[in-house]
Amino acid sequence: MKSLVLERKDELLLRDFPDIDRQEQVLGPRDVRIKLHTVGICGSDVHYYTHGRIGPFVVQEPMILGHEASGTVIELGAQVTTLRVGDRVCMEPGIPDPNSKAARLGMYNIDPAVRFWATPPIHGILRPTCVHPEAFTYRLPDNVSFAEAAMVEPLAVGVHAATKARIRPGDIGLVLGAGPIGLVTALSALAGGCARVYVTDLAPKKLEIAESLSPAITGVNVACDDIVARIKADTDGWGADVVFEATGSPRAAAGVFEPLAPGGCVVMIGGQPDPISYDAGAAMVREARVENIFRYAHVFPRCVAMLASGAIDVKPLITRTFAFDDSVHAFEVAASAPPADVKMQIELPQ
Ligand SMILES: [Zn+2]
Repeated sequence: MKSLVLERKDELLLRDFPDIDRQEQVLGPRDVRIKLHTVGICGSDVHYYTHGRIGPFVVQEPMILGHEASGTVIELGAQVTTLRVGDRVCMEPGIPDPNSKAARLGMYNIDPAVRFWATPPIHGILRPTCVHPEAFTYRLPDNVSFAEAAMVEPLAVGVHAATKARIRPGDIGLVLGAGPIGLVTALSALAGGCARVYVTDLAPKKLEIAESLSPAITGVNVACDDIVARIKADTDGWGADVVFEATGSPRAAAGVFEPLAPGGCVVMIGGQPDPISYDAGAAMVREARVENIFRYAHVFPRCVAMLASGAIDVKPLITRTFAFDDSVHAFEVAASAPPADVKMQIELPQ
């Protein structure tokens, strides 16, 4: 099966991968076989390509990339009851051990045994077909395209963050960072009830994209504007009810409580490979609540429902689409981080 294989750091090949053919022959009774249609390129895929590792996860053997996916069910395991051949679906890429304590407590995303696509040593899905559990495969309504469905995975991070924040209608939100995750978080915060969401970045083009998503989103360029002063000025000195940290920058994290209102909530989203420090005194005087998220749990059906109803529109975030045969080129483009791009996707031949 021709797959996009990360041979080692800086080396990608589109080639046959006999190992995955052997694994894929096994269709368990509660599994479905899926013909992949669209796969989004995630920052993590690009990071494995350019660095060969993310924190403790190191690429030691050739690994297939990709984890943001949609496709069509082409075969059912013997005990599958909720899906049919021909169903259009999106898939949740992390599979926990269903008997683990974390899974039994409903926190399956933080099960230490979770197997997540394109996280070494688990292969991703930039390949023609995959086998996946029925329980982590979600049927799409007719009005949700394959491209939108492949955005459900990153959107799920934003929806999980907004859920953890416990937003109340009319809250003022602030998202630090206008990358793909910052933008889906801003959309999720609005869908969760925020009256206005401020989004910060250093790149004017990214802020322009952020503001184009909704009249309730205000971009603030922190290269020239003081976000704390701006938030204070707009809220009679009170601050933002919720601050989402989506830059992964230790500098942003260090000042994360400054724009926060008393009694507000900070959600840490951006990955931090090294220990960081933040101002615990500033958190204390506000009685700030701090939430951390790791990927998401229980939100894929909610994301699909919001795409179907129009409560969230991710289409403006999909800025470029490549053919599967051009995957290596697509990753070279993604690695160069073009400022006008948010999400690039790869379409597989059907
Ligand atoms: Zn992703």
